[in-house]
Amino acid sequence: MAAMVRGWRTGTENCIRRDAKLGIGMLTHLECTRCGQHYPADRPQTVCGKDGGILYARYDLATIKRTFSSARLAGRAPTMWRYDAVLPDANPVSLGEGFTPMLSSREYANVYIKDEGLNPTGSFKARGLSAGVTMARHFGLKKLAIPSAGNAAGALAAYAAAAGLEAHIFMPRDVPQANRVECDYYGAQVTLVDGLISDCARRVAELKKESFWEKDGWFDVSTTKEPYRVEGKKTMGYEVAEQLGWRIPQGIIYPTGGGVGLLGMWKAFEEMEALGWIDAGKRPKMISVQAEGCAPIPKALEEGMGASTMWPEAHTLAAGLRVPKAYGDFIILDVVRKSCGTAIAVSDDAIMAAVKEMASTEGIFPAPEGGAALAAYQQLLASEFLTEKDRVVLFNTGSGYKYLDVFAEYWGVEGFAALAQKLPASRNIGGIIAPY
Ligand SMILES: [Zn+2]
Repeated sequence: MAAMVRGWRTGTENCIRRDAKLGIGMLTHLECTRCGQHYPADRPQTVCGKDGGILYARYDLATIKRTFSSARLAGRAPTMWRYDAVLPDANPVSLGEGFTPMLSSREYANVYIKDEGLNPTGSFKARGLSAGVTMARHFGLKKLAIPSAGNAAGALAAYAAAAGLEAHIFMPRDVPQANRVECDYYGAQVTLVDGLISDCARRVAELKKESFWEKDGWFDVSTTKEPYRVEGKKTMGYEVAEQLGWRIPQGIIYPTGGGVGLLGMWKAFEEMEALGWIDAGKRPKMISVQAEGCAPIPKALEEGMGASTMWPEAHTLAAGLRVPKAYGDFIILDVVRKSCGTAIAVSDDAIMAAVKEMASTEGIFPAPEGGAALAAYQQLLASEFLTEKDRVVLFNTGSGYKYLDVFAEYWGVEGFAALAQKLPASRNIGGIIAPY
């Protein structure tokens, strides 16, 4: 009995010690987003063994709240690792990713453009892969496999090179040329697949059945099939809050392929509420944008479904949106609904016109996916889902420089000149003449 009492007295301490062995610093455990099952965070994990649910990293937020405040962020290095208080305590593989500019739109008074094209490798994928590769190195993994629509491949290749690990990339044969070239330069092993990212994912799934997979330290860093890419992407949510003075905008418009950034930002808002960094209950409307040629999320939302169905014959010039079914679709839909947001599909023509408009009005040369965000904003203004008074953040998820072949093919050489004649249409908004 006495021993039990002593056990109780030191129980809390023991618990923390025991958790610390299974976690990493303030990262206490992983939790299944479907069934809530806990998993230790001190070893590589994939998805929930029971139901395939995505595992989220959970932290001792109460202790972090006591020992760290948002005021302490001031003066920290302008990378996503400034938020290391809420990231796993491992030695980062960093190329300076994150803390990208939050630019006031020159066209729309209450719009901000979060320019993720300025990340290493020219896209927001740098964040997730910086975190994912950091943890892979931490766990001693050697060979990282990824199916990718393009930009995740480039990012994995770069971070694996920086970490001294092998990158094995499976991507569609028709990805933008930049993605193929960069992967070669970063020294990755590239397999070009006839088909879509879903076909690439099947190739990785086949490899996983091979006997060498575990023995040789292979690991699948597919979107949401390991817990840490979400952790990297969530830093976008922390940045939205910090860069807007801890005042959450009314809406976030997010081009959605795999949708990890949308999930990650929502997780960040939850954590920041628990930490007392933002006011509780003031979440932005999360708005998911896809292309008309591949719009499983808007379709599922409209039909009131909890998950999406595989989009047949997916096609769009926005390679990053060509994801026929996201693994985390059920969470994306849940977040969109909980936030009173929406999901919207835009045409390739609207995307390409919006790319030109953003470039020529804002001085930002966006990826087609960034153009999709602007096109969606314009449609949501027209449908009065948003008003011009709403503070809205548009995500440009990548640099247009990685899509030169895509743009050239769309417009044709003469097309660029013709376009310049056509475009200066709608710059007069609400009687205000934009400065151009
Ligand atoms: Zn589960």
